[in-house]
Amino acid sequence: MSGVLVVVETVSNGSALHRMSLEALAAGRKLAAGLGCPCDAAVLGASSAAAATVAGKGVTTWAVEHCQLENYTADAWCGALQQLIDEAKPQFVVFAHTYQARDYAAKLATRFGEVLIGDVTAIRVDVGAPVFTRQWMQGKLNAEYRHPAGICFVSVQAGSFPADDAVTGSGEVKTFTPKLESAAIRTIPGKPFREAAQTVDLSSAPLIVSVGRGIGGQENLKLVEELAAALGAELAASRPICDAGWLPMERQVGSSGQTVAPKLYLAVGISGAIQHLVGMKAAGTVIAINKDPDAPIFEVADVGVVGDLFEIVPALTKAILAHKGAAS
Ligand SMILES: Cc1cc2nc3c(=O)[nH]c(=O)nc-3n(C[C@H](O)[C@H](O)[C@H](O)COP(=O)(O)OP(=O)(O)OC[C@H]3O[C@@H](n4cnc5c(N)ncnc54)[C@H](O)[C@@H]3O)c2cc1C
Repeated sequence: MSGVLVVVETVSNGSALHRMSLEALAAGRKLAAGLGCPCDAAVLGASSAAAATVAGKGVTTWAVEHCQLENYTADAWCGALQQLIDEAKPQFVVFAHTYQARDYAAKLATRFGEVLIGDVTAIRVDVGAPVFTRQWMQGKLNAEYRHPAGICFVSVQAGSFPADDAVTGSGEVKTFTPKLESAAIRTIPGKPFREAAQTVDLSSAPLIVSVGRGIGGQENLKLVEELAAALGAELAASRPICDAGWLPMERQVGSSGQTVAPKLYLAVGISGAIQHLVGMKAAGTVIAINKDPDAPIFEVADVGVVGDLFEIVPALTKAILAHKGAAS
């Protein structure tokens, strides 16, 4: 047993890679580099183009193919991965902590008599042995885990290992065909969770405008909605906005909400409490608008605008729309 195997998830009927899987790949590479071992990937039931895209990131990629893998089921995924692990013999199996991985990864681990170290936020190698960090009590405590022996199953939290889109290479694509009996598949696949109506997956949004209590009241939300629409961004919020019912809970960012890693996070009237910061600290660029120059959000902001959001936000929206109009 040696090496790291990253299980890559696809979206859009297997034709594209899940953004969080690229982060899992970054985590797998980091782990493999620390241990001096290879990092491979596996893609289940996807198009050959998806497997080639993963191999184009410089990793040997197992294209796991079977008619029972056309649609996701926990039984088929566990059966196929169990056989692949028996074949490839990795020491570590890494997943993105997606809704899908939450559904089957722990079950897969138990087939090997192991547990899943879930929602890992950091990995370091200490004297040749990896140490995995995960949060407890809604982010108030960090716990460190070591895995003594056997295959180690790990899922990584969104935004904790920034995907390095620039990494390219020419890894080999290997085809693996597991033996799967249709009688062993006990569920009929439904629609993927994130495609259900009204569901927002902020974790894969490239641009986010996020609003906090500084907005003053629900009637003022249209200001940030207009800014988000002008930018083509998703709208998110701090907890008080969702607690008040001004926006649905699924738009909350933070330790008890979603963890996001957009290219741009524009924080409007958000103070920057630690419970909010842990959910957005992996953003590429943070722009903060706040009237308090001492607001903690400015400690993580790349660009800070000190001023009244009721003046700045409409002016910014107007400028973006004017720029777009001039460009078209
Ligand atoms: C267990 C636990 C879990 C939590 N989980 C989360 C979580 O997941 N996500 C989360 O966000 N919070 C969470 N919280 C709450 C968190 O501690 C903060 O209370 C919350 O993030 C504050 O939200 P806010 O920044 O919108 O509001 P405030 O802290 O009230 O900040 C409002 C900001 O708006 C600014 N402002 C006011 N008027 C204007 C104006 N006109 N123009 C410009 N700026 C203005 C103010 O200067 C201020 O900085 C959690 C708390 C606990 C205890």
